[in-house]
Amino acid sequence: MADPALDGLVEALRCLPGVGQKSAQRMAYHLLQHDRAGALKLARALDGAVNEIGHCARCHTFSRAELCDLCADSTRDARLLCVVETPADQAALERTGSYKGQYFVLLGRLSPLDGLGARDIGLSALLTRASDGVVEEVILATNFNAEGEATAHVLGEQLKARGLKVTRLARGVPVGSELEYVDLGTIAHAFMDRR
Ligand SMILES: [Zn+2]
Repeated sequence: MADPALDGLVEALRCLPGVGQKSAQRMAYHLLQHDRAGALKLARALDGAVNEIGHCARCHTFSRAELCDLCADSTRDARLLCVVETPADQAALERTGSYKGQYFVLLGRLSPLDGLGARDIGLSALLTRASDGVVEEVILATNFNAEGEATAHVLGEQLKARGLKVTRLARGVPVGSELEYVDLGTIAHAFMDRR
């Protein structure tokens, strides 16, 4: 009885993280039954975001321009480079207001079980970025779970081999946690107490 367009919508919604068949169906029915205006707004927003937002050439975060606002901001301290896994983690750190340096966004983390290696997380791009002669300290702010720690370890070794000072956000952030969900005060402390 289902329409191919409805099936297609359910199938498309399943690309969202954590959304299985049942929730996708619930969302699709909800949109068609109660919120067609919302559905159109969602469609336009998706289309716009996907077409207009790319990645910053320097730090790889989301950006509409070649350089993101933060990389283009000359008031940021270019001697500090903070490495995060995702644009969401970067946004979480920025919300604390406790960091005034620049960023490099890996867009992932090492995950040998999923076959994700150094090449996938842009290790060579990071090494090039960190070796610009201006960066003095690289702060590793990957997540505090096994994969994030392993990533920090590998990156740290490579960066130190190039004579860079490497620090890690450490104290206060609960083991196993994703930065995106850690409270602001805790992150601010972790920045100050980095070592
Ligand atoms: Zn940037």
